[in-house]
This record gives sequence, C-alpha cells and structure tokens, in this order.
Amino acid sequence: MIPIYIHNTLSGEKEEFKPLVAGKVGIYNCGPTVYDTAHIGNLRTFVMYDIIRRVFEYNGHFVTQVMNITDVDDKTIRRSQEKKISLEELTRHYETLFLADLHSLNILTPNKLLSARDHVKDMIEMIAILLEKGVAYQTKDGVYFSIGMSKNYGELAKLKIEATDSSTLKERISNDEYEKENPRDFALWKFYTEDDGDVFWDSPFGKGRPGWHIECSAMSWRALGTSIDIHTGGIDLMFPHHTNEIAQSEATHDQKFVNYWIHGAFMNVNDAKMAKSKNNFFKLADVEESGISPLAFRYWLLTSHYRSQVNFTVDAVKAAQTAFIRFIETFVRLQDVSAGLEHEHIHASATPRDYKGEFLKVVNDDFNMPEAVALAWELIKDHTIEAKDKVTMLLDFDKVLGLGLHAVVDVQKEEVPAEITALAEARQEARKNKEWDKADALRKEIEGRGYSVKDTDKGFELKLL
Ligand code: AMP
Ligand code: ZN
Repeated sequence: MIPIYIHNTLSGEKEEFKPLVAGKVGIYNCGPTVYDTAHIGNLRTFVMYDIIRRVFEYNGHFVTQVMNITDVDDKTIRRSQEKKISLEELTRHYETLFLADLHSLNILTPNKLLSARDHVKDMIEMIAILLEKGVAYQTKDGVYFSIGMSKNYGELAKLKIEATDSSTLKERISNDEYEKENPRDFALWKFYTEDDGDVFWDSPFGKGRPGWHIECSAMSWRALGTSIDIHTGGIDLMFPHHTNEIAQSEATHDQKFVNYWIHGAFMNVNDAKMAKSKNNFFKLADVEESGISPLAFRYWLLTSHYRSQVNFTVDAVKAAQTAFIRFIETFVRLQDVSAGLEHEHIHASATPRDYKGEFLKVVNDDFNMPEAVALAWELIKDHTIEAKDKVTMLLDFDKVLGLGLHAVVDVQKEEVPAEITALAEARQEARKNKEWDKADALRKEIEGRGYSVKDTDKGFELKLL
C-alpha cells in the first residue's frame, strides 16, 4: 500500500493520511449556495472534490462523501424575494442546474447530498447545547457564538486573537460573510424580521432561521459523526466559514472536529478572483458556447494543481482542448491496434516501467493531477508497451481522471444496432462463399446506414462513419 499524502491547511504541511476507521474515509464537502447557476470557479472546486473521492476509491478505501446544498441563507432569501418566487422554487431550480453541471463534468454524485432546510432541527439542537454550555448568548436580534470562549479560535486561518475572555469581545456580526481583519462573534440563529418573508422556523429561543456556519457543523455531525476525516472547500471558506465551523463543533462535542482540511485555490479572470459579486464570471454554458466541451474543460482543470491559482481564458482552455482531442483520438487508435485493425511495432524492454505504481504515487502525493496526466501521455508514447496493455492501463487511470474513456469504449461497443451487425455477418458469409458482388452490395448498404466495416483476423469491425 502506498500512503496518501495530503496538504493539511491546519498544519500547513503535507501529512500522511491516517483514517479514523481503517479502510474507511468520511469526507464533508461545502457545497453550492443555490441562488444562481454555479460559475466555473465553483466548478473547479467541485472537480477537486471529485478527484479527492476518486483517489480514495482508487486506493480501495470505502468512501462516504457528503455534500450540503445551502438552500437557506442571506443570499438565497434575498434572491427569492427579488424574483418574487418561493425559496423552495428558487433553490430547487438551481440545484437541478448544479446536478446537470456535475453530470456534464463527469463528477460522481456525492454519496449524500443534504439540504440545509431539511436539517434545521439538528441546527437548533446544536445551538441549544452551545447556549447551555455558555459559549453562545442571546441578544435582541439572535443567538451569537462567543468567539472569546472558544479554544484556539482562528487556528485554521492563523488569526491572531488577543482576547480569551468573552467579556473582552463584544463586537458582533449578523451577516454570514465578513473579512478576516475583524473577527467577531457570529450569528448562530437570526430572529425573524420582515425581510425573511415566509422563511422561518420555531425554536426554543424564538422564531427565526439559522446562520450559514451552523448549517455545515450540524449536517456533518448528522451525516458523519462528531469527528470526521476530511473537510473541503475553496480557500475563501477558510475564514470565516470553516473557522466558525470548528469553533461551534468543538465547543459542542469537546472533540477534534476535522483531521484534514483541504482547500482549493481560486480560479481567476484577469488575475482577480472569479466571483458573482464582481460580475467577472463564466458559466459552463458560456464555455460550451465558445466551442469547448465540458470534458475538455475538465482536462484543462486537471493540468493545474488544485493548490495553484488558475487564470481562465478561452484561448488557454482551447489549447487544452486540442490536447484532449488528441488524447481521445490516440486512445481510440490504441483500441484499433489492440483489436488487430492496425499493425503494431513493439520494442520490448528488459526493464518495463511500472506505470501503475508511478500513477498511484503521483495521485497519492496530494492529488497531483498535472503529473498524472503527464504520466498518461508518457505511457501513450512508450514504444515498449503493447497497445492492449496501454488501453487497460489508461482505462484504469481514468477511474481517477474521469475523462470519459470508459464512455468511448461503451459507445464503440454499444452503438452498433443489431441490424447493422446482421448485415456485416451476411457480408462475411458472402465473402466466405466468394460471392464478391453480394459482399460488395452489403458493404455499400452498411455504409449507407452510416457505418464502416473492416475485415480483421477475428472477423469484422464496425465503426460509425
Ligand atoms: P458557493 O456556491 O458560493 O457557496 O461556492 C461553492 C464553492 O466554490 C465553495 O467551496 C467556494 O469556496 C468555491 N469558490 C467560489 N469562488 C471560487 C473561485 N473563483 N475559484 C474556485 N473556487 C471558488
Ligand atoms: Zn460549509
């Protein structure tokens, strides 16, 4: 077994992964806020989540991947009111679009997708514990978490907090998002105001709705328990969101909340973070309109390490698409060669490279996808390896890369309708009986229906023209 190394934001170092339970891994991903279509920066982060899950599965771990859908917060409520539709209608619509984007990008559906609105009871339970322990307090407008009462508040984001006593920190913030320069007591529960319209829940502390941060603490508790292996997000979530999650969860359960924190770097546009608020964002549909396929976009994402920022330009992704098309075409040709349709020249090596071992090593080294893609290309170009072995290994690598090679194989196998195969069989029979005119007529008929037929030593091969 080759160990998996993870860059853990908590320590700032690459660490060997040690699961809480041998052979299993619980992963919590901060999911989308469904008030609008995801932009491709968000999608970069979701591809990173997918790669992490795939690497663990490739290593034979039993993965439980949990992702939340933020379907109640400041932004979703505001947007549903602007659009004069219910919160439910707004968020279900964007959730559906989000799932469609995951599908287009070959992102595996998380094992559990949790709606925040379905877990308000759990959030209330957690807030009640925090109030009872005296780490939360009630004001006129809500219930707040007292960061001065928290052990190690700000450790994840390396904040310098002077105060260790609740009496010295009286500043509060009710907004879900705020800047690192000014850490403050944050809202766990926001009492109802008219701005909330028909969005509210009853609770022992009063009618209202949860703050954003408590949502993930409560849902990860419900889905994965009090301590979890891995928690992920984009780097912007490190503060305040993840910092506050740690404070709430550890104060509730008196246990270490998360062993490994993984944060992905931003996608930028003209060197500024891509963000809805900056109006500098692109959606997957915009990328497709520029003539780029979603899987070519995924290929482009894999050519950068998740901890490096990337700058999006159509030209950069188009260049990656050229390489991606070559990758797929080469794979198809390798299949033809291994099926005996083309001649193969092999220069066998006395010391063949252990590609599988090398692949495992790079993907286990903090999910190094650029090196994994480069290795796949080295394998393709290696004249000492037979085509059929290359095909087998590339399909194996694609369990991690997710570039759709399995679909290429399936299309080739499945898309030939039975009547075309029957024509090809009749042609083969005619050739055996030396009925050349009949065989020729059948070939023309096959071609007229959009397929080419080639003779091989195993029989025939049909392909879409
Ligand atoms: P949101 O839907 O805003 O809650 O964000 C969903 C995920 O996308 C979070 O993990 C964010 O950290 C991440 N994210 C937001 N903007 C970017 C960006 N420009 N590049 C990469 N990830 C981002
Ligand atoms: Zn979250």
